[in-house]
Amino acid sequence: MPNSSTPQLPSPGSKILLTGASGFIAVHVAAQLLKDRFSVVGSVRTVAKGDYLKNLFKGKPFSYVIVEDIGKPDAFDEAVKGVEGVVHTASPFHWNAASLEELTDPAINGTVGILKSVAKNGSSVRRVVITSSCASVEGPFSGRPPPYTLTEDDWNLTSVPMCERDGDQANKIVMYCASKVLAERAAWKFMEDTKPAFDLTVINPPFVFGPILHQVETEESLNQSVGVFHSVVKGTKTEEDLPGPMGSWVDVRDVAFVHSKSLLVPEAGNQRFIVSAGEFCVQDWTDFLHANHPSVPNIPQGQPGGGEEVCDPAKVAHSSGDKAARVLGVQYISKETCWTDMYDSIKAKGF
Ligand code: NDP
Repeated sequence: MPNSSTPQLPSPGSKILLTGASGFIAVHVAAQLLKDRFSVVGSVRTVAKGDYLKNLFKGKPFSYVIVEDIGKPDAFDEAVKGVEGVVHTASPFHWNAASLEELTDPAINGTVGILKSVAKNGSSVRRVVITSSCASVEGPFSGRPPPYTLTEDDWNLTSVPMCERDGDQANKIVMYCASKVLAERAAWKFMEDTKPAFDLTVINPPFVFGPILHQVETEESLNQSVGVFHSVVKGTKTEEDLPGPMGSWVDVRDVAFVHSKSLLVPEAGNQRFIVSAGEFCVQDWTDFLHANHPSVPNIPQGQPGGGEEVCDPAKVAHSSGDKAARVLGVQYISKETCWTDMYDSIKAKGF
């Protein structure tokens, strides 16, 4: 029997609001939520994006609502009514913002906005799950010499000050990282200040790769992370790009799994979860392409097989995904499966 301190969770089969449902990660989250027998209301910006998803999930309990701009006040006031859980993935993820505000306005206002809407109109909501990032855990150019292991106790302390110092001239990746730090901090502050009836779980993935299910018409409009892999497949990398670790990574299906399980596992309340399968480098991808798709042109050789040493956790910054494995039960998908399915999905689009 649950005792009075056991949090109430969304009931089986209940309705979950999934924001930014048209995104790379969110479509997989929708698929996992449906697999876990929830019904899903996705927020999207356009009817065309909503109809694409309705068609993708034909026969399943999926519907959509239009929320054109998550940064607008009260944007989710209607959408939260009658749902028992919320998964908030929507946030700009790209490395070409002209200003920090271009990212922070939707990132912070969207995050705090949905929490406010739930507090105001979402009386049936038990738990909100927010997609943050490992960018909130550690920033690029932090100056901290590897090796080190990052856990949920760590915060990126460098990206926000760098943006304050450099303004619109700040490094674009740092700008994105700052938007994730500020949005996640604002979420926890809201919870601390208002102590609402629902609880919060935050998911912190590093680079997310894997098959694309979302609507992508042109290769230029691929989402940011898969776009990095695609740039290698297109032969834009040289020998000089190969050495060195790129960071931690995880398969998009594992990210989706932990989002959905966060609505099912009581202990996930008021927790952050890094979801990370380990480290990767561009050499991993070039080795994969040479071995499996040798006709792809302009792929540098580098040092075949050298990726393992480059990514040795004893030598690099390492994001630990152990807590998500322990509490949420994720069993991380391998690099080989991830790269294979990602490559095949891109090729299926003709890119
Ligand atoms: P996508 O760009 O594919 O998805 C972003 C989603 O957010 C899209 O549905 C987009 O809508 C929506 N969105 C962005 N800005 C607005 C806005 N102002 N109003 C309404 N909707 C908006 O990226 P991902 O799927 O990769 O990212 C999803 C989440 O995961 C983000 O929070 C990102 O920061 C986080 N993340 C991603 C990682 C990765 O490697 N992919 C790693 C770690 C965290 P539309 O499709 O209409 O543009």
